[in-house]
Amino acid sequence: MGTSTENAGPDAAHGPHAQGAADGPASPSADGAATAGHGAAPEGPRAAAIGPQPGPVDAPAAAAGPQAEAAGPQAEGAAVRSGRPGPPVALSPSRAGDFMQCPLLYRFRVIDKLPEKPSPAATRGTVVHAVLERLFDAPAAERTAGGARAMVAGEWEKLLAKRPELAELFADDPAGERLAGWLSDAEALVERWFTLEDPTRLEPAERELYVETVLESGLQLRGFIDRVDVAPTGEVRIVDYKTGKAPRPQFAEGALFQMKFYALVVWRLRGVVPRRLQLVYLGSGDIITYDPGESELLAVERKLLALWEAIQTATATGDWRPRPTKLCGWCDHQAHCPEFGGTPPVYPLEIRPADGA
Ligand code: SF4
Repeated sequence: MGTSTENAGPDAAHGPHAQGAADGPASPSADGAATAGHGAAPEGPRAAAIGPQPGPVDAPAAAAGPQAEAAGPQAEGAAVRSGRPGPPVALSPSRAGDFMQCPLLYRFRVIDKLPEKPSPAATRGTVVHAVLERLFDAPAAERTAGGARAMVAGEWEKLLAKRPELAELFADDPAGERLAGWLSDAEALVERWFTLEDPTRLEPAERELYVETVLESGLQLRGFIDRVDVAPTGEVRIVDYKTGKAPRPQFAEGALFQMKFYALVVWRLRGVVPRRLQLVYLGSGDIITYDPGESELLAVERKLLALWEAIQTATATGDWRPRPTKLCGWCDHQAHCPEFGGTPPVYPLEIRPADGA
């Protein structure tokens, strides 16, 4: 396991510049694992462009952007999903995670496309992601913590203009007190990022990059990557921001699955295995890094193929099992879930008997 976690809380020696020096791609080690993360950081004005990009393609409702994932499982609630039911056509990290968590949840989101209520945490994640993306529009010297904090309210207003239904989050807050606290929390998350990375030393090759590829098997993979850094040497670092807290080490593998998914897609698109995967947890001030190898990404590919096969079987048979866990508390669909006394909607797709039935 090549995971490296860095805590950059108030007591840790990770000032903005310290992080900039410490989180670049590690020098190659025997097992490809992240060590302390020292080496040539893909930062600074010399950072190269990643090369030709796939043109942005309309993502389906099921492929929610990374902002929707920013605050953990509840964050999906930010994507108020609705639309015509239909079979799944592609896999994104969040939807793969849904199926692994609970097949019935996957069905509700991807096939039934049941609407979900926006949540304050997920919406805050969207605003924070927007600030961290747009911050890089400014010249390096102007990317300050104060400036970024000042962007929060404006990004919230822009989001609200695009998605007026989010006003319901604060409908019971006529005095604006909860909204003020919520904005303040978002500002604190943005500010914490400056203790983890130094944007004056970063020139991302890509921000909010939509990626999509089709594997030899025909399985289509897609998703959004928060940030891609490319070192002058060509080494690629994939970065994802999380507004929640870092998982305990024994659960880090789950968190890295999404990153390995992206690494596989980037590898397939560009023929180069990303040098480093980096999860930045703004809620706890931690960074988790991982340097993937080809064999691991091939294992991820096999896992995704098996997952897709299971999804195809469930799609054809209509057999979507609920899998209750403590995460049910975040699920918007308890009223439709047999585990909570509910009844799923009529299955909208044609049902075919399972092979051999
Ligand atoms: S309530 Fe739990 S078991 Fe039911 S659909 Fe949601 S996640 Fe699955």
